[in-house]
Amino acid sequence: MLKDIFIGLSQNQFLNSAAKKYGLKMGAQTVVAGTNIPEVIKSIKELNAQGISCTVDNLGEFVFKKEEAAEAKEQILKVIEAIHEHKVDAHISLKPTQLGLDIEYDFCLSNLREIVDTANKYGIFVNFDMEDYSHLQATFELLDELSLEYENVGTVIQSYFHQAQEYLEKYKNFRIRIVKGAYKESEDIAYLDKKDIDANFIKITEWHLLNGKFTSIATHDHRIISHMKEFVKKHDIPNDKFEFQMLYGFRKELQLQLASEGFNFCTYVPFGNDWYGYFMRRLAERPQNLNLVAKQVFNKKTNTIIGVAAGAFLLGRISNANKKKRK
Ligand SMILES: Cc1cc2nc3c(=O)[nH]c(=O)nc-3n(C[C@H](O)[C@H](O)[C@H](O)COP(=O)(O)OP(=O)(O)OC[C@H]3O[C@@H](n4cnc5c(N)ncnc54)[C@H](O)[C@@H]3O)c2cc1C
Repeated sequence: MLKDIFIGLSQNQFLNSAAKKYGLKMGAQTVVAGTNIPEVIKSIKELNAQGISCTVDNLGEFVFKKEEAAEAKEQILKVIEAIHEHKVDAHISLKPTQLGLDIEYDFCLSNLREIVDTANKYGIFVNFDMEDYSHLQATFELLDELSLEYENVGTVIQSYFHQAQEYLEKYKNFRIRIVKGAYKESEDIAYLDKKDIDANFIKITEWHLLNGKFTSIATHDHRIISHMKEFVKKHDIPNDKFEFQMLYGFRKELQLQLASEGFNFCTYVPFGNDWYGYFMRRLAERPQNLNLVAKQVFNKKTNTIIGVAAGAFLLGRISNANKKKRK
């Protein structure tokens, strides 16, 4: 129920535009590494100093105009230049819809080509994040086309999909991030039960560790992480064949512990003004993250309280609308 509400809020364009104007609020600053390139480079340097590499995401949602996609492309190109210039240990994560996938496939492809080409010159990897099911096939096609020209590309497989193993087999020669999946999908195509999603995550990750090129095990779930640590030990899987990944600001102690144990560790570092949808999806995954919001609300900022109240108000409306739809 709460998950549905936050997913609903993440898709609310009005709140998204409002949030952009007000900077990082509602606790988002604890999970978003700044709003501009100097701030994100500073965060990356701090993580690198602790033995952690980074994947940088220039946040952006609801891109329906070519100018917005072109602007996002320019910003990502600047991030690539900054990674190179500052010699930080980081690569790029991007969402094809931010580069125009909902506008025109060829336009998106050409934006991605420019990004991948520039990154390739500096030996920087580019990951295509996986969005909801409606974008899955097109994202695979973009990857298929660009991988004919470049090797520095890879993507994400979401274990909630019934066909996750099939996708993984097709892309076993790529660097692949395995996640559980963050979007609301229907039971025809995806497991909805957490136990099934977790079981499939373990099954496909084990398969990819044994058969794939490079596996990014992306989860905050300590039970799965412990299982994977045992698995790689038992099967003598070398450290350079996999890494653990978590999101910026989450389970910081566990991130540091894994890095200090000698595992490759990569933190997903989102930044930018367009933090709202990302933040709402994190609340959908784990309503306990609301603690982050609560801490900020009681930290004096009146405008934050107004923001939360507006959110709560709209939340009621969306929830009612959803109920009606379901009937
Ligand atoms: C690096 C990275 C990249 C991602 N990229 C994508 C993508 O491209 N596409 C996509 O759809 N999704 C992506 N996701 C999101 C992912 O699909 C999941 O929605 C998200 O990671 C939540 O699942 P989980 O496995 O981390 O833990 P959950 O299934 O949410 O939690 C499992 C258990 O872990 C523990 N736990 C989890 N979080 C915490 C915490 N903060 N503190 C303490 N304990 C905790 C709790 O015991 C919890 O019960 C990404 C996630 C990561 C980490």
